[in-house]
Amino acid sequence: MNCIFCNIVSKKVPAKLVYEDSKILAFHDVNPVVSVHILIIPKKHIESAMHLKKEDEQLIGYIFLKIKDIAKNFGCDNGYRIVNNCGKDGGQTVNHLHFHLLGGNSLSWPPG
Ligand code: 5GP
Ligand code: ZN
Repeated sequence: MNCIFCNIVSKKVPAKLVYEDSKILAFHDVNPVVSVHILIIPKKHIESAMHLKKEDEQLIGYIFLKIKDIAKNFGCDNGYRIVNNCGKDGGQTVNHLHFHLLGGNSLSWPPG
């Protein structure tokens, strides 16, 4: 399996890391769409939110609490958006579960 995010986890591909521990990795999106655009991923390869299993329940809560800390560290005090594009119709382009943390300025809604 040749997964770009697994290669970032194993450091075969460089990324601007924001946070790392035994379970997750956070790094700047290579093509930011707003001033704060960070990707948060589990180190374990999970293809998408559609592929989550019961055993992943705690991991997802863990990721959301870390996103809260990362958003604070990046000054997103007025709020931010957490996005998960899931599957083809959801616009997912990298098939390793990831959450976009988007912030740094006011975001429009709906996204279209
Ligand atoms: P998706 O469309 O799957 O929700 O988002 C994938 C995101 O990953 C995109 O925003 C894209 O810019 C980002 N991305 C794709 N390849 C790389 C990479 O090699 N490094 C980093 N840092 N981001 C990537
Ligand atoms: Zn992967």
